[in-house]
Amino acid sequence: MHSYSVKKVYEKLKGEQERVLWGKIVWNRLSIPKNRFIHWLAALGKLQTAEKLKHIGVSANDLCLLCGSYAETHQHLFFNCKFSSEFMQGIKLWLGVKARTLELHQLCRGIRRGSRTKFQKQVILAGIAAVIYYIWRVRNGCYWNHKVESISSSIKRIQADVKLRLAAVLPNNITNRDKQWFLSL
Ligand SMILES: [Zn+2]
Repeated sequence: MHSYSVKKVYEKLKGEQERVLWGKIVWNRLSIPKNRFIHWLAALGKLQTAEKLKHIGVSANDLCLLCGSYAETHQHLFFNCKFSSEFMQGIKLWLGVKARTLELHQLCRGIRRGSRTKFQKQVILAGIAAVIYYIWRVRNGCYWNHKVESISSSIKRIQADVKLRLAAVLPNNITNRDKQWFLSL
């Protein structure tokens, strides 16, 4: 095998590993089912943001529907926008996530590689999936109803939804320590 094809095989395997890893992150059984799909599309950069709609000629402007100040790319919408960064910060604080990265792949990979228990990582990733879903929902609310849900009420709603989901699918084999951690949320 000459070096060119070795490189190609390596890249293919790397891409395959990345897909498997993302599958595990996104199709987490503790995540709320309707959150998983939006999390998946966000990770792939496939949501129809204003920037994409302008690019294909559907929309005349690409401004973020939440702040109206910057182009609505995935990166801006989920991390850089002042509204979403407050959401994200609120949920990270709630779940004790200290990572400061402003990039979805890095954030999720960092959580998965962290030193917490498997259960706690799954709960945190379910929380991140819920934020992504809610930001997209609030953004769509702006588009269709021209109203923005308040950040504090959205954070409370995310917390309630995630806890409800977890209570319904709580694994039987979690340790007492994990159970206490979950009950303290
Ligand atoms: Zn914005």
